[in-house]
Amino acid sequence: MNDRTPVYKLNSDLCSNLYVKREDMIPYSFGGNKARKARLFFEEIDAGDYDYVVTYGSSHSNHCRVVANMAAQRGLKCLIIGPQEVSDETYNSRIMEILGAEIITVPVDQVSETIDHKLQELKDSGHKPYFIMGGGHGNIGTRAYAQCYSEIKKFEQEEGIFFDYIFFASGTGTTQAGLVCGQLLEGDDRKIVGISIARKNPRGRDVVVDSIRDYLKGEGGSAAGTITEEDIQSATIFIDDYTGDGYGADSSEISAVIEDALVRYGMPLDGTYTGKAFFGMEDYIKKNKLSDKTILFIHTGGTPLFFDELNKKRGK
Ligand SMILES: *Cc1c(COP(=O)(O)O)cnc(C)c1O
Repeated sequence: MNDRTPVYKLNSDLCSNLYVKREDMIPYSFGGNKARKARLFFEEIDAGDYDYVVTYGSSHSNHCRVVANMAAQRGLKCLIIGPQEVSDETYNSRIMEILGAEIITVPVDQVSETIDHKLQELKDSGHKPYFIMGGGHGNIGTRAYAQCYSEIKKFEQEEGIFFDYIFFASGTGTTQAGLVCGQLLEGDDRKIVGISIARKNPRGRDVVVDSIRDYLKGEGGSAAGTITEEDIQSATIFIDDYTGDGYGADSSEISAVIEDALVRYGMPLDGTYTGKAFFGMEDYIKKNKLSDKTILFIHTGGTPLFFDELNKKRGK
């Protein structure tokens, strides 16, 4: 990406050097980390002769929204396979519909076989489908956030500062894996802290570690040779205390953080990703007494979910 997303300081009571990087302001389809990842997937799609894009995700998925948009822009067909269990109407699902995506929902335990089946069916009927894993998971998605790490470094060099901590919402862990790969390849000493929005440890953390290994092996270049397993393990901080069913993160607390961020900073957060991550970061700062550190929060997007949340408040 040529244009870097904005980074600026927040007027926080909790930490006098708290900055935010606004990935939600990537200027494509309401932005977010899925837009940064999808841009790289579509570079590959544009270079091939694909006529179909197939991916999966729920009706809430920011990833599916952005992929549907990029496919529609190119006149490519887009097939989205999603779990029946999470198929209620949302702003993201309505945008996917406007974009003409074909959406198939099946029970969650049939998603994987349905994808295989549909891909085969398309190939058999003469199509050339490109498959993107849910959330833009995989080395291409990881590369997007290794690139984001370079943007952060450029900002630091220009401003003459150094972020001791970087916080963000971690889901499939691809965003985290990319940032950590950037850090490891640069040899920087700082803490990159993923706040889990759903997965529990050890699985959540293991998935991040796997993605890091995959990326370093495939795309790390010569610098990756000096990175040890121990380096990878100690650089991967995946906090699962704020997933919602865990302690200290009930929905009223998250709502309070969302309202506070809107009032204080004019910054929309949502209840699934950024609100949880911001809540988790604030709690982590308090518990670990980090108020004198220089900290970056990456706003990973999800703007349509902010409006879903407003509807929920109305009981719609
Ligand atoms: C998908 C998503 C995340 C999590 O990103 P991963 O790379 O899957 O960890 C965080 N925030 C928002 C808004 C998202 O849509």
